[in-house]
Amino acid sequence: MVKFIADSMLGKLARWLRILGVDTLYSENFTDDEIIAIAEREDRIILTCDHELASRARKCFLKVEFLNLTRLEELLAVLSLRYGFKLDFDPLRTRCPLCNYPLTLVRDPSSILTTWRPPIKAPIYWVCRRCGHVYWKGKHFIDINRRLTEAKRLLKLKE
Ligand SMILES: [Zn+2]
Repeated sequence: MVKFIADSMLGKLARWLRILGVDTLYSENFTDDEIIAIAEREDRIILTCDHELASRARKCFLKVEFLNLTRLEELLAVLSLRYGFKLDFDPLRTRCPLCNYPLTLVRDPSSILTTWRPPIKAPIYWVCRRCGHVYWKGKHFIDINRRLTEAKRLLKLKE
């Protein structure tokens, strides 16, 4: 499975890749040097919209995906086509959008987080065992599905 590291301009894309279960490192504080060092150490593909970072990384023989698109759906379609991950939400593979840690699917988050009280009642939740965030299928899932449907439509046009 492909692993990415995204530059500081690509936070939104990084969150979406994580939702899709794709291991994507991102921090708005990473310097170019850090991105290059981590990519080298962990064999990650650099996602960047920065020419300078892209050319520096290529000189170090690192894999780089230079992205000159801005639309999220289009970016997802291009990367899915190139790296073969699915544009579907998989409840068992999804990662924490905030910290990239694989999420644990549970019926009751308080089995993991003792102080957690549900703000709403949902049939299933996802818990991040690293940062403690809890997720469930709320209204934002309509947006997730809509955007993934659009990304899949664009992917079909490119295939
Ligand atoms: Zn997390």
